[in-house]
Amino acid sequence: MIKRGMRHESRQKTAVGRVRLNEIFTSIEGEGILFGTKTMFVRLAGCPLKCRWCDTTYAIPMDSGADYSIDEVKALIARELQPNTYKVNFTGGEPLVQHEAVIELAKFVREKGLRTYLESACHDSSRFSKVLPFIDICKIEFKMRDSGVVDKKSYPALLKSELECLKMAVQGGKKPYIKVVVTNSSDLEEFKELVSKIFTVANPVDIAGFIIQPSFDTDEPVLDRLLAFYDAVYPSYEHVRIVPQLHKFIGAR
Ligand code: SF4
Repeated sequence: MIKRGMRHESRQKTAVGRVRLNEIFTSIEGEGILFGTKTMFVRLAGCPLKCRWCDTTYAIPMDSGADYSIDEVKALIARELQPNTYKVNFTGGEPLVQHEAVIELAKFVREKGLRTYLESACHDSSRFSKVLPFIDICKIEFKMRDSGVVDKKSYPALLKSELECLKMAVQGGKKPYIKVVVTNSSDLEEFKELVSKIFTVANPVDIAGFIIQPSFDTDEPVLDRLLAFYDAVYPSYEHVRIVPQLHKFIGAR
């Protein structure tokens, strides 16, 4: 669990049985292996991290959005549910900040016959282990150092936590997928080391995909850089894909 370098506001706790919710909406999944599918997004407030290319900065403060009871959010989910939406994506901010709420809401989503999807930066493997049994689709995001996600000293602990979460998801039979955002400044040697560590923890058959996501609007990587990152993964995992955030091209959330 990462403690150093955390934003103060994200250490605040929500009251038991309460949820600090930013928004609930239905849109097209714009990134990852399920891009192009209709999805309900439940965006929770709060994130202790600070990625320089973050595109949901409005959801970072713990006091962003509004305060609800769990039952009120269940009612909002039920009201928002549209036909042909087979999954609900718990996102943020960082959903593990309110992991107890995610567990309760995920149970409700499953009762509705939908699949649960967790998008997490995996900064807290203890909380991740508690949420995991209630999650059907799991994205494990690895942050490169140049993301600025945490301070230098805290980075090894974050990486350790991400790898632990990957291991748990694999052992839990979740067949997670991996996402790494790269910029033009991301270091290729660091990326190669990361790939090596990932495939020490997971066999290629254990994961559902490996997505290299180019940063958007911040230090965007040129094609040659992207191909170099692709080449670093391909020998270990030939299904690697470079996928930009597609929802941004159609102006969707
Ligand atoms: S982990 Fe997600 S929400 Fe938090 S700063 Fe990074 S991109 Fe933004």
